Amino acid sequence: MANNGSKRSKKGVLQLLRMRTTMLILLILVIGFGAVSVRIGYLTLVQGTYLQEKAVEQQLVDTTVNSKRGTIYDAKGKVLAQSASVWKVVLAPAYLKTEEQRIYVAQNLAKILDLKYEDVYKKTKQKTYYVVLKRKIESDEREKILSLCDALNEKFDGLSNVITLFDDYRRYYPYNDLASSVIGFTGSDDQGLEGVEFKYDDYLTGTPGRIITARNANQTDMPFQYEQNVAAKDGNNITLTIDETVQSIAEKYMKKGITDNEVVNRGVCIIMNVNTGAIIAMVTVDGYDLNKPYDLSDADLAAIRALPEKKRAAAESAALGAMWRNKAVADTYYPGSVFKMCTASMALNEGVVNENSSFNCSGSVTIYDHTIHCHFHAGHGTQNLFQAIYNSCNPAFIDIGARVGADKFYKYYEAFGFSEPTGIDLPGESDDLFFNEDGSMSQTDLAVASFGQNFSITPIQMVTACSAIANGGKVLQPYVVQKITDSDGNVVKNTETTVKRQVISSAVSKKMCKFLEDNTTKGGVNNGYISGYRVGGKTGTSEKIGQSQSGYKDYIASFCGFAPADKPEVACLVFYDTPRGASYYGSQVSAPVFVNIMSEVLPYLEVQAEYDSGEKQYVDTITGSYSGLSVAKAEAAAKKDGFTVTVKGEGKKVISQMPSTATKIPVGGNVVLYTDKESEKATVNVPDMVGYSVSTVNDIAASAGLNISFSGVTTSANAVSKSQSISAGEKVSEGTVITVEFSGGTVVND
Ligand SMILES: [Zn+2]
Repeated sequence: MANNGSKRSKKGVLQLLRMRTTMLILLILVIGFGAVSVRIGYLTLVQGTYLQEKAVEQQLVDTTVNSKRGTIYDAKGKVLAQSASVWKVVLAPAYLKTEEQRIYVAQNLAKILDLKYEDVYKKTKQKTYYVVLKRKIESDEREKILSLCDALNEKFDGLSNVITLFDDYRRYYPYNDLASSVIGFTGSDDQGLEGVEFKYDDYLTGTPGRIITARNANQTDMPFQYEQNVAAKDGNNITLTIDETVQSIAEKYMKKGITDNEVVNRGVCIIMNVNTGAIIAMVTVDGYDLNKPYDLSDADLAAIRALPEKKRAAAESAALGAMWRNKAVADTYYPGSVFKMCTASMALNEGVVNENSSFNCSGSVTIYDHTIHCHFHAGHGTQNLFQAIYNSCNPAFIDIGARVGADKFYKYYEAFGFSEPTGIDLPGESDDLFFNEDGSMSQTDLAVASFGQNFSITPIQMVTACSAIANGGKVLQPYVVQKITDSDGNVVKNTETTVKRQVISSAVSKKMCKFLEDNTTKGGVNNGYISGYRVGGKTGTSEKIGQSQSGYKDYIASFCGFAPADKPEVACLVFYDTPRGASYYGSQVSAPVFVNIMSEVLPYLEVQAEYDSGEKQYVDTITGSYSGLSVAKAEAAAKKDGFTVTVKGEGKKVISQMPSTATKIPVGGNVVLYTDKESEKATVNVPDMVGYSVSTVNDIAASAGLNISFSGVTTSANAVSKSQSISAGEKVSEGTVITVEFSGGTVVND
């Protein structure tokens, strides 16, 4: 409904779409509204001539009233996309009779709406009842327009209806770039253009209302005045499976990984509930601000500006397309060694291998005239199945693939869901690229396919297959929309779990969970290990053959895993396209990001941690409140909480403490108790703590009186500190907590 306040709403709600002769007006009314046809017939016959003379002053108005688009919520009810009320300003300049009126209206409107006076003035001269001056104005501008209407009413005796405000809506995304590739955005007419906004547009849009009115230009009611209002119906609301907290955690570490590893072509993280198929987080980094979907990055803009002018438009639209692209479902890649979890699963399920099977690696294997090398050129020698997995040995997997055979291999490939889109409820899902469309493979094809090379799949297909391996063998249909409700809260649609098929037995699934868990703890690389949690997973590094640019050998670095390994709940794929930093290995680039994400996500999901004795020294505990107590009592309390204590100053009571109350630090950390103002001023220099083992960092911190919060991989024998949250040389209070991040060292078995 138009919304100028009640006194204006009757006469002011006018959108003149077209001028028509009386006959046309009557024709439309006859067709549309039979109830008045008799009266109109009378008017046409009896008063026809008179009305035709008046035709130019008459108008039929048929105005669409926008409906309010539905809200998009996260799994916990946080608003991710919302339509806020804004207004459209429409001028009916035909009502303006004098030059004084035109100038007054143009001056005021130009000022309020921040428009050029000349442009507005030009519009006031038009002989029409419907000129849109500005769309989507906010409430502060609306207030000023309403005051102007009051002023017009007084100054020019009822001229207020020269301006009309129509209800409109503006889409607003409170979290800006969060989950941008999933949520998508809307166009200027409120239509969904990308992501869920596009896929579920029909549900979100609602039904526009209508106002149909016949009036004459002098505002006196016409003899056959007819008005019909159809109220707009709000769109449905959507609740996603995406959890804002989990999504934020994943985005934080994924962005850090982009910077740390100088990733050229973005990264993807998908976190899926292995038992339902619900997607808890889906990240494409870098994303874009949903409130400004046409703003390109500075780097993109610079690249476009460097082009010849005639090429810029095409380059800009390509850059926007790439920025909006949901890489998690739309891009394909060689899965590399991550796929070995599928090869091992199918071989176990077929019974062609078991735990005791033996595989030999001399460092390379020759299939017809192709020699394929193991990443460990000296050769792994004789291995059992678990050793083949944790060595990530290509010759062993070529043997395993050959035992399965090409026909069966492809049947499992299909059954894992790689030969078709997963059917996730997002737009733009790509299909795989296999060797031959009919699934046939040469012996060489089968050999390289066994370790995940030379065929392309999407990230969503990979995490879906990993979920099947973890969940007892069920291939599920992934989804991002949990529930659709109407504006009264009634459930319109609720997504149930869809089990597509059983691909491996639950016994094989159990065995694979154990192998993949051991792979993260006992394997040569335990960068997938998370203190306190049983996690299973596999690294992968695949060369982008034939896709290299500018002399680089480009790679995909990925890690795919799940937790807890004994009773899996979530699967997570971390994937970086073209890292060009110090390493391009999945174990170095992606596994640490997986560890960081899962270390925060698992406690949030209330997955219980279980620490062994070796881990306990790194378990954080929470500081109590010791201020206000006597020194003796405070000291006793802090010691009882498991900390070592340093008392500073000459006072009898504790006036402050470092770290402050409720800070997480490792058991045995240093709590400093200050007893006077002077003692609080003392600082210590932060030492350099990068490039050391866990125990060395512990020693350095203890001798400086500082506390360490351990992050990343701390239990690997090769663990080395990579970064510290406060730089060396900074001055801080004794007891300050510094976060030091570790990675698992330099052994590579991708
Ligand atoms: Zn090998």
